[in-house]
Amino acid sequence: MTVPALNGLQTILESFEADNETKGARNVLEWAYSHFESDKIVYASSFGAEAIVLIDLIHQVKPDAHIVFLDTGLHFPETYEVINQIEARFPTLQIERKLPALTLDEQAAQHGTALWKREPNSCCNIRKVIPLRETLSTKEAWISGLRREQSPTRAATEFLNEDGKFNNIKICPLIHWTWDEVWNYIREKDLPYNALHDHGYPSIGCFPCTQAVGADGDSRAGRWTGTGKTECGLHTR
Ligand code: SF4
Repeated sequence: MTVPALNGLQTILESFEADNETKGARNVLEWAYSHFESDKIVYASSFGAEAIVLIDLIHQVKPDAHIVFLDTGLHFPETYEVINQIEARFPTLQIERKLPALTLDEQAAQHGTALWKREPNSCCNIRKVIPLRETLSTKEAWISGLRREQSPTRAATEFLNEDGKFNNIKICPLIHWTWDEVWNYIREKDLPYNALHDHGYPSIGCFPCTQAVGADGDSRAGRWTGTGKTECGLHTR
């Protein structure tokens, strides 16, 4: 299977104004949900701060959109709580909790206990990458909340990206948003958000691999601290 061609599509999106009320995000989502059949596009959501913005925007454009949460079984209770709150606030959205093939006990039996301490890439592959690959095997496009400001590795992200890893088009509506703009949107619309954001966690993943950071820490500093790992593997080749 080859990656869907972006010829012509990128030109369409480049024509969108990036400095409108949502910095192009709503235009991108309107285009995406009109271009792809509803069963061919999914938003893979972490339910972090960017996700809350995206969910609100997606709900405006496609009230019954398919959203998938990669449920590793290792998320904080606060993450599951915000998912419950989002489901209550947006009951028409189709939120799927995608489980890995292996339970935590099965993973421990096959690969040893606390794989995340010894081989975090293998753990992420089992609990995140493979499940997303399964989901995307029937899709043509997926949506992600990447922002260019988040890290140097994300600075060149476009609205539309050829994703050879998953043979899909990856759509990133929030590339021009800043961290402050994300939070202004959440507060202005009084949206639910993960309570850990109020306790020094700008980026929230699985609890074994996520720490609080100081006020001046960068937004990804609390993820896999001290391991050299900076990405779970969904956005790397
Ligand atoms: Fe495993 Fe940590 Fe990756 Fe979660 S973030 S899947 S616990 S290595």
